[in-house]
Amino acid sequence: MLQIHQFPCLSDNYGFLIHDPATGATAAIDTPDAEEYLRQAEAKGWRITDIWNTHWHPDHAGGNAAIKENTGATVTGPAEVKRIGTPPDRVVDDGDRVKIGGIEARVLNVGGHTLGHIAYVFDADKVAFVGDALFALGCGRLFEGTPQQMWTSLQKLAALPDDATLYCAHEYTQSNARFALAVDPDNAALRTRSAEIDRLRAAGKPTVPMTLRLEKDTNPFLRAPAILPNVDPVEAFAALRKQKDEFKG
Ligand code: ZN
Ligand code: FE
Repeated sequence: MLQIHQFPCLSDNYGFLIHDPATGATAAIDTPDAEEYLRQAEAKGWRITDIWNTHWHPDHAGGNAAIKENTGATVTGPAEVKRIGTPPDRVVDDGDRVKIGGIEARVLNVGGHTLGHIAYVFDADKVAFVGDALFALGCGRLFEGTPQQMWTSLQKLAALPDDATLYCAHEYTQSNARFALAVDPDNAALRTRSAEIDRLRAAGKPTVPMTLRLEKDTNPFLRAPAILPNVDPVEAFAALRKQKDEFKG
């Protein structure tokens, strides 16, 4: 069974090291901060054998070179990762299978934040690493893709089992909650969750990971068709994404 070690990185990223105890294989999910990853791996007694990138942004792939130089790790990721340096040793995209030791994950293309953004899904463990595609109560900004592409990507994630655990790459939840409450004020589950988020953050605790079930009930982007029922789902999603980009809350 997959072991997951989560730790804060940079100002609001999360770092993840995943480990197969049977083989000792360890993957860095993204590389926001090489030094912190190396320190955390050493503290766990794990040696980083692999780097799995979700997308090319520097707070996700910027530490690839340093970690690779230090550990000899193999880099797996979307082709776009070459934009910040060397291409991945193994380029993957939708439908590919990747393994950490004996544990298999499936690659989903969840483009929109960047065109080539991928997620890693461990079906047996019901765990997914979703990078900047879906956040707790939010979703990634559309820097490169269209609303149609992002909506399709979010539907792929929404098709995972309801009790799947989602690990997103940033602690943006409290500000996401302010927007969610502004556009979905009558959602009782959202109000309850928002209060819980405030409690967690006041105690210095992470709001990541989250369950898909709770996102489906409270994330305004997944709920776009319920929040704006009179337009088609892509239009509803596009309108909410635009509103969030302009939101001052
Ligand atoms: Zn990003
Ligand atoms: Fe990011």
